[in-house]
Amino acid sequence: MIATKSYAALDATSPLVPYDFERRDLRADDIQIEILFCGVCHSDLHQARNEWGGSLYPMVPGHEIVGRVVEVGSDVKRFKKGDLAAVGVLVDSCMSCDHCKKDLEQYCRNGATVTYNGYERDGKTLSQGGYATQIVTKEHFVLNVDEKLDLAAVAPLLCAGITTWSPLKHLKVGKGMKVAVAGLGGLGHMGLKFAVAMGAEVTLLSTNPSKEADARRLGAHHFVHTGDKNQMKKKCRNFSGDSEHHFRTA
Ligand SMILES: [Zn+2]
Ligand SMILES: [Zn+2]
Repeated sequence: MIATKSYAALDATSPLVPYDFERRDLRADDIQIEILFCGVCHSDLHQARNEWGGSLYPMVPGHEIVGRVVEVGSDVKRFKKGDLAAVGVLVDSCMSCDHCKKDLEQYCRNGATVTYNGYERDGKTLSQGGYATQIVTKEHFVLNVDEKLDLAAVAPLLCAGITTWSPLKHLKVGKGMKVAVAGLGGLGHMGLKFAVAMGAEVTLLSTNPSKEADARRLGAHHFVHTGDKNQMKKKCRNFSGDSEHHFRTA
């Protein structure tokens, strides 16, 4: 077993505390990563504080993980020692149901294994996340990371990033399209930057007018203070073409 140091929530109300535990020994398709950075996702707070109910303790939060490979199992193909690697929200699934076979492991018929606050495939070992020194993860759920990137900035891409990237790609956002992003938070600022980079005309909607300067700095073409009735009136029906083309960010 692999000795691991971490910060864990032991219950829903007390502060996180230093917590030693063990990661499993590597299976043939596992990768051991020394964690260098881990983002703090708002879901970490919700789950550590049991705001969604059913939280499992002790809980090591963190599912925006980037680090360096320190060991690989005998069947691992895409990684070798010393490579950079990243882990997001999922770490395992049954790999054999129809959804898993279509690369839709998040919809695994037998329940996907989330990075923390869930159970490993044995149904009894708690999965533990990235506020830790090490993680051992099945290669299928590990992403390659380019050495040229700023690793601290890569970490949030693993949850906030993919959450906003996915709908924009799914809807084939590009030149000639209008995108409205609701809120300039952890997800909203990523959605804004992606949509701008994809060539869309982007409006940032916010309850807080002080967000305008940052929104413009990140490339927003328009800014609407949603508390201002006149501004809202002007934009009325501006984005109402197809309800499927709307998405919200937290
Ligand atoms: Zn998250
Ligand atoms: Zn499955």
